[in-house]
Amino acid sequence: MPDIIQLLPDNIANQIAAGEVIQRPASAVKELLENAVDASATEIKLIVTDAGKNLVQVVDNGKGMSETDARMAFERHATSKISNIEDLFKIKTMGFRGEALASIAAVAQVELKTRKTDEELGTCIEIENSIVKSQEPCATAAGTNICMKNLFFNVPARRNFLKSNAAELRHIVDEFIRVAMAFPHIFFSLTSNGQQVFHLEAGSLKHRILQILGTAYSAKLVNVREETDYMNIYGFVGKPDTAKKTRGDQYFFVNSRYIKSAYLNHAVMNAFDEMIAKDSFPMYVLFIDLDPSQVDINVHPTKQEIKFEDEKIVYAFVQAAVKHALAQFSIAPSLDFSLNADIQQMEAISKPANEDRLQSIASSNLFKTFTQKNQAHKIEGTNRSELKHWKDFYEPSSLELPSDLGSVTETGKLEQELEYSGYSLLKQGPQIRLLPDATLVQLHNTYIITPTSEGFLLIHQQQAHERILYERYIEAANGKQMPAQHSLFPSTIELNATDSVLMEELLPDLKVLGYLIEPFGNNTFVVQGTPADILQGNEKMVIELLLEQYKHFTSDIKFSKREKLVRCVAKQQAIKTGKAMAQKEMMVLKEELFRCQVPNVTPNGSPTYLEFKGDYLERMFGRQ
Ligand code: ADP
Ligand code: MG
Repeated sequence: MPDIIQLLPDNIANQIAAGEVIQRPASAVKELLENAVDASATEIKLIVTDAGKNLVQVVDNGKGMSETDARMAFERHATSKISNIEDLFKIKTMGFRGEALASIAAVAQVELKTRKTDEELGTCIEIENSIVKSQEPCATAAGTNICMKNLFFNVPARRNFLKSNAAELRHIVDEFIRVAMAFPHIFFSLTSNGQQVFHLEAGSLKHRILQILGTAYSAKLVNVREETDYMNIYGFVGKPDTAKKTRGDQYFFVNSRYIKSAYLNHAVMNAFDEMIAKDSFPMYVLFIDLDPSQVDINVHPTKQEIKFEDEKIVYAFVQAAVKHALAQFSIAPSLDFSLNADIQQMEAISKPANEDRLQSIASSNLFKTFTQKNQAHKIEGTNRSELKHWKDFYEPSSLELPSDLGSVTETGKLEQELEYSGYSLLKQGPQIRLLPDATLVQLHNTYIITPTSEGFLLIHQQQAHERILYERYIEAANGKQMPAQHSLFPSTIELNATDSVLMEELLPDLKVLGYLIEPFGNNTFVVQGTPADILQGNEKMVIELLLEQYKHFTSDIKFSKREKLVRCVAKQQAIKTGKAMAQKEMMVLKEELFRCQVPNVTPNGSPTYLEFKGDYLERMFGRQ
């Protein structure tokens, strides 16, 4: 039998690769516009005919390419933007994968004219199906002029797959707007079938928004701006009365790159909260800038989806910034403070609270505005006194803010507020009045139902217990060591080399949590004791599992070793769903849960219970 594997010819390989990057004319528009931006152009013109099926042309006045570069640009993985793997973590340009031009040249006929400013003659290249047809010197304007003709001329199946001109043009306009919005200091124009559709003079962001989204927004934009060492946010949101029934005027840019993020969208929606109708969509154009090493833009070929190193911080930051902006324009006329600096100078924050001060705080206007709904930072009462939470707001407890938040925390109080709010404050449940002696009902060995004064709570047994254990262990970690129970027959665990290094590191913290483990040489450890409240007998499994879970956590840089460990142990030791619970056990669980500092969420923010209020129930039954 002859061997059957062979390498694909370049043009076929490129065609296959092109499928990821170039799906339709609009994808080429995006790539070519971004290349022009990366080339530092100050004027970028986009010309399309037949919704780009026939022609997509981008003319820029950027830095142009040399003769060799012009040829190289069409090679796959050819880029001037990164040269080693470290560069991937500091990307400041729109492109970096070096795939766009190669892909376009694989599925269309391309003509490129380019000249560097300091050169007299430019270069002209024709290429189709990845094959260079001609390359010669030519006279051309400084910058780059690239034409993509007859997209998919050589892949009829994909050409047939394109939608109507109207639909494809809409996609093009979307991509055009996303780039133009992100770079208001660059002139952009779009001409379709000889007609100019957009002519966007360079100017401010506000100006650009009005040019693109319409002057109806002109007195309706609220400025958003917050800066910290970790990240900055700026841009505009529409006043609540401009919210529309259709999603649309909503733009997020991370380091100038348009992204789609349901998660961040949710953060903004949350900030608008009750200011707009449930089924309407506020306008926003928001730019988030942060260290490129904190985002992974390489998770998607067209880079519209990204991953944040720490999503929760970004979420809380966006939400707080928008809330703050909205609060300033009208909701709280009497409350005009800056989220950043001023607030920390306030006596209430810089000095520890005592009874007297708490009293005066409680009667002050500031406190009242804080406790009203829809303020910049909404704080709803819980079963604990509001006063306490007011204070917590500024002095996040060690529970929610592990001490080694490091650089993040040092940048100021804002992150602390955010961090804290992300986990609990903004999720704080409403006032709950439990009936202490009520009989509890367990459902599906998972939920516990308990009445409140007018409705009921559905407690999730596992998540609730996780919260309880978490707080208990944190207390232990802060000095109140957990009682351990010595094993009658100490078991030994043998680990691989990496795990045993990890284990060595964790021993002191494990001890605090009641795990008495000693190194025995040769990657072996002896378990002398375990926390008094866990069943004896399966120590070995428990500890191995713990190590596994801990390893999953290690990418979470913002948590200290101890915090991670505590979270793992809490998760692991929590009563699981599927376990039948006796009345007494459920009582204890309920009581302990509501004795917690933050009873309503697990350490990573999932709810521990859902509340069904009386009026809600009445409404469900059509009685209100
Ligand atoms: P990437 O943008 O990921 O680097 P591309 O295939 O889009 O990959 O472009 C390849 C290279 O060609 C770029 O790195 C850049 O050096 C050069 N290039 C492309 N378009 C332009 C342009 N309009 N002006 C100047 N150089 C360009
Ligand atoms: Mg590119």
